[in-house]
Amino acid sequence: MEHIVIVGNGIAGVTLARHIRKKSDAKITIVSSENEYFFSRTALMYVFMGHMKFEHTQSYENDFWKKNKINLLQGLVTTVLTASKEIVLSNNDTIKFDKLVLATGSKPNKYGWPGQDLKGVTGLYHKKDLENLEEWAPQTKRAVIVGGGLIGIELAEMLRSRDIPVTFLVREKTFWGSVLPFGESQMINRHILEHHIDLRLGTNLVEILSDEKGHVKGIVTDKGETIDCEIVGLTAGVSPNIDFLKDSGIELNKGVKVNRYLETNIADIYAIGDCAEQHEGIDLRRPIEAVWYTGRMMGETLAQTLTGNPTEYKPGHWFNSAKFLDIEYQTYGWVWANPKENEVHFYWEHHKGKKAIRISFDKESRTFLGINTFGIRMRHAFFDKVLTDKQTVDFVISHLKDANFDPEFFTSYESEIQKQFADQFVGVKKT
Ligand SMILES: Cc1cc2nc3c(=O)[nH]c(=O)nc-3n(C[C@H](O)[C@H](O)[C@H](O)COP(=O)(O)OP(=O)(O)OC[C@H]3O[C@@H](n4cnc5c(N)ncnc54)[C@H](O)[C@@H]3O)c2cc1C
Repeated sequence: MEHIVIVGNGIAGVTLARHIRKKSDAKITIVSSENEYFFSRTALMYVFMGHMKFEHTQSYENDFWKKNKINLLQGLVTTVLTASKEIVLSNNDTIKFDKLVLATGSKPNKYGWPGQDLKGVTGLYHKKDLENLEEWAPQTKRAVIVGGGLIGIELAEMLRSRDIPVTFLVREKTFWGSVLPFGESQMINRHILEHHIDLRLGTNLVEILSDEKGHVKGIVTDKGETIDCEIVGLTAGVSPNIDFLKDSGIELNKGVKVNRYLETNIADIYAIGDCAEQHEGIDLRRPIEAVWYTGRMMGETLAQTLTGNPTEYKPGHWFNSAKFLDIEYQTYGWVWANPKENEVHFYWEHHKGKKAIRISFDKESRTFLGINTFGIRMRHAFFDKVLTDKQTVDFVISHLKDANFDPEFFTSYESEIQKQFADQFVGVKKT
């Protein structure tokens, strides 16, 4: 019987295993080091904030795996021997495979800062990070977070939920300025400050200082300031967790290089999820996509291929969602921080500064290209269809009611948005 070995029990690896099992009796083994069972990484913050217990982040009963004949092995893979089709674990056990799937996820970036390995310094990625934060939080008078993206703001919210003062160092001049256009980025800056987070824009970490016991006692910024703190959160992005593959002969760049079928350069070895890197990004997507739903889609897609139905990975239209403290964010299609030459942006912000919409469209054809929403929850299916049908911005503006979930939306905001759009853009076909 064919043996499929999957390294990593995150969303990518377990989705793959479940979908193979639906169609095949192959022997399946998942080897993963962090935790015996799959859990939702995106829910870690809610465990720290006391909204749920860690057990509730596990979406399957523990006996699910046995019932579905998916063998789980907790262990760290240190080597892949491609010629003999074996993996080696840190305890020197070896496992033979017919097919191997690498689904090893990401790790937080560390840029060689002095002191980055001290006690009290952590990323926010692994279960262990949460356990460390639990241990250190009670003794913490201030935390410093380095890196202004989605994970940094989550960590700030977590620490503030325990009344720990937080200083937030953001290299850019405005929060998540490489992704968010200026208007929304400014809105989030204000929101962060309202939450009593000490936001330092345009500020870099230079060094992390140690006390005599090897624990963090402060940091130094590139403005020459020393800030006393007991926790340093490093949230300057993530990168694929693939160091153990360096000498394997599997083609690597930042991630494990794969083609559209998620195959590596070595026959019968595949990669999915955060650790996979497309040779070229699909459509306008990045070659590496460290997001939950693409890991799930890659798992579903590869399951087809491994059960006799070779299938290309086609992720469809880009979308993403996140939360900036109390403000929910969604994005569908492409809205760049700065419009490209053929693009125009329409931006509406509610006067209270907690809701906003930005729509990007083509200035010649008026084709809708993408939308960012803040504090307004939109319908995925609506925008998926609009993008597929290549509808115009005028269609979207006149169908805002169908696009959003909020029954109060029309009376509260829709007419204001439509009026502003009409004032700015109706009749303006070309610039
Ligand atoms: C705090 C946080 C919040 C997030 N919020 C969102 C969100 O709101 N929306 C969104 O789309 N995405 C979010 N993400 C990203 C999302 O969680 C990841 O894209 C997703 O979990 C990646 O899944 P994966 O299966 O590729 O890898 P992972 O979930 O990283 O799983 C890989 C597993 O493989 C194990 N492993 C690695 N190397 C080895 C080895 N050599 N041997 C054995 N085991 C190994 C790892 O320990 C890990 O458990 C968030 C991430 C974090 C950290």
